[in-house]
Amino acid sequence: MTTFTSAPHPSIPERPIHTAAAQGPAAVEAFALTKRYGRADTGVTALDNVSVRFDAGKFTAIMGPSGSGKSTLMHCLAGLDTADSGRILLGGTELTGLNDRELTALRRERIGFVFQAFNLVPTLTAEQNITLPLALAGTAPDAGWLATVVNTLGLKDRLKHRPHELSGGQQQRVAVARALLTRPDVVFGDEPTGNLDSKAGGEVLALLRRSSQEMGQSIIMVTHDPVAASYADRVVLMSDGGLVGEIHQPTAEAVLAALGKLGA
Ligand code: ADP
Repeated sequence: MTTFTSAPHPSIPERPIHTAAAQGPAAVEAFALTKRYGRADTGVTALDNVSVRFDAGKFTAIMGPSGSGKSTLMHCLAGLDTADSGRILLGGTELTGLNDRELTALRRERIGFVFQAFNLVPTLTAEQNITLPLALAGTAPDAGWLATVVNTLGLKDRLKHRPHELSGGQQQRVAVARALLTRPDVVFGDEPTGNLDSKAGGEVLALLRRSSQEMGQSIIMVTHDPVAASYADRVVLMSDGGLVGEIHQPTAEAVLAALGKLGA
């Protein structure tokens, strides 16, 4: 990859539109994000002037060929990495300019994460894992909300189990419950079904979709799997560090065809 002149898909405006009447609130918005790695002459443009909005309460998948900038975009949106230029608004808060302590607090209080590796604490029970972020923040869980999340994710009978006593799918459901419990502005998923077989993966994806449809949870998921992406309300396509298209109400076939055109 060298340098690119970004040519956004006609349906993706160069800058997010701000007509409140036309759109609901945004969970996250990025404005002209650019990030390069390495030296000016030999480096790589990981993000090339990316502007995108993710609607609140929706489930969005980010897809594209390997090296297209998906992880870099997600890490910047989630405050895990910083762009060279551009702005990010998360739930109305400007991330740009927050110091490390403020970013850490924002990630703890306003963002949920579900990674490919389940990242559960092996010595804690499922329930203790689910409530850990709140315990770390010194807050008690809302009993009603905890029960709703646990019931929705089918974990009621598993709360006293430790991770090694649970299947991979059950462990990932615990991770999803942990992400939902703080009612974050956004749940970010990084290949959340990458370690699961297709049945367990399908169950986790269906639960993610339910949590957006029934609980209004905003979800942004990076995946390379067209079937996983088909659970989302919308797929955003990246190539060479830029946005090149989007698909609403995606089917796996439509996603596969779009990726094929990108050479993925
Ligand atoms: P994707 O998630 O779509 O595979 P990435 O965001 O990981 O893409 O990477 C985008 C580009 O940035 C790639 O060319 C990758 O090699 C480069 N890149 C990512 N992280 C680093 C890094 N830490 N140092 C140097 N280059 C990087």
